[in-house]
Amino acid sequence: MKQIRFGKTECMVSRIAFGGIPIQRLSTEDAVKVVRGTAELGINFIDTANGYSDSEEKIGLAVKEMPRDTLVLASKSTARDKKTFLEHLDLSLKRLGVDYLDIYQLHAVSSEDVYDAVFREGGAFEGLMEAVKAGKVRFPAFSSHSVPLSLRIMREGKFAAVQLPFNYIDDEAAKEAIPLAKELDMGFIAMKPFGGGLLSDAGVSIRYLSQFDSIVPDPGIEKLSEIEEIVRIIESGEAFSEADAEEVERVRKELGSRWCHRCDYCQPCPQKIGISMVLNVESFMKRMPYKRTSAMAGQGMEMAKTCTECRACVKKCPYDLDIPELIKEKLMLWEKYVSEHS
Ligand code: SF4
Ligand code: SF4
Repeated sequence: MKQIRFGKTECMVSRIAFGGIPIQRLSTEDAVKVVRGTAELGINFIDTANGYSDSEEKIGLAVKEMPRDTLVLASKSTARDKKTFLEHLDLSLKRLGVDYLDIYQLHAVSSEDVYDAVFREGGAFEGLMEAVKAGKVRFPAFSSHSVPLSLRIMREGKFAAVQLPFNYIDDEAAKEAIPLAKELDMGFIAMKPFGGGLLSDAGVSIRYLSQFDSIVPDPGIEKLSEIEEIVRIIESGEAFSEADAEEVERVRKELGSRWCHRCDYCQPCPQKIGISMVLNVESFMKRMPYKRTSAMAGQGMEMAKTCTECRACVKKCPYDLDIPELIKEKLMLWEKYVSEHS
C-alpha cells in the first residue's frame, strides 16, 4: 500500500486509514481479525476514540504483537477540561496497550461553546500540551464538524492535524480547509468518506477523494471484505472519471434536498432538538451497536417528537431542507429500528 507524508508530523501513513467506530459491533475475536487483516493489507494508520466504547481495547489486543513504530495510532477525547482530558488520555493508552499515541485529537470541536471550553484556562487544550511535553502524545490534533470554525483554529497554528467530514456530498472542506491544511503543512483526515455509510458506491467515493492527494480518508470498517475492496480500488490507480462525475451529480441531486451537512446553522431550535443528530441518525444506526446507538441518540430522538413544526429552522438552513418533514421520516425509521432490536 502506497504511503503519504502526513503533513508536518512527518509520519508516513497508508493512503487510507482504519476508522474504529464499527468494530464496536463485533465480538472481540472478530474485531481483532479485522484489525489484523487490515494491517496485513498495509494499512498502518488506525484512528479511534476514547468514546467508542470497547474500540480502543479491541485495537489494543489486535496490535499488541506489532512493532509500535510500524503503526500510526490516533485517538481522541471529548473531554473539555484538562483533568478529564488527561484521564481520558491515560485510559486510551491503557486500552491500546501503548505508552504513547502518535496523534491525539480534541474530539468534535464544532461550536463556539466547545471552542471556549477547550481553550480556556484549565481546558482540554492545556492537557493536550502537557501530554505532548510528557511524551504521551507526539502530535496534537482536533476533529470538528464545522469548516468555518476549523479554518479559524487551523490558522491559530496550535495543531499538527485536523479531521473534518469530507466526501462528495459533504464537500465544503474542498474549497478552503484542504488547501489551507496543505499550506500550513497539517495532516488532513477525511472523516466519513462514505457519508457515514450512506454513500453505497465505494469506487465513486474513493476515486472522488483520490483527487485530493494530501488527505487520508478514514472509513469505519466492520468487515475485512470492505477494506479489501477499498484497497483494490486504491491500488488499481483508477482516476475519477466522467462517469463518476455523472454519478456524483445524480446522487447530489437525489440527496440534495435531504442531506443534512451537520453545519448547525439551523440552531437554536426553540424545542432544543438536536436537528443535525436527528437527521443523521441512520449514520449511528449503520455503524454502532444498538445499545450504544440507543444511549447516544435515544434521548435526542425523544426530543425530536416535540417538534412543533414552527419552521424557524427551515429559514436558517442554507440547503433548504424541509426539516420538520425529515424529522418525521427519521422518527419513523427510528421507531422501526427500536422495535427490531427490542
Ligand atoms: S420546526 Fe421543529 S425542529 Fe425546527 S425549529 Fe421548530 S421545533 Fe425546532
Ligand atoms: S438541517 Fe440544514 S442547517 Fe441544520 S445542520 Fe442540517 S444542513 Fe445544516
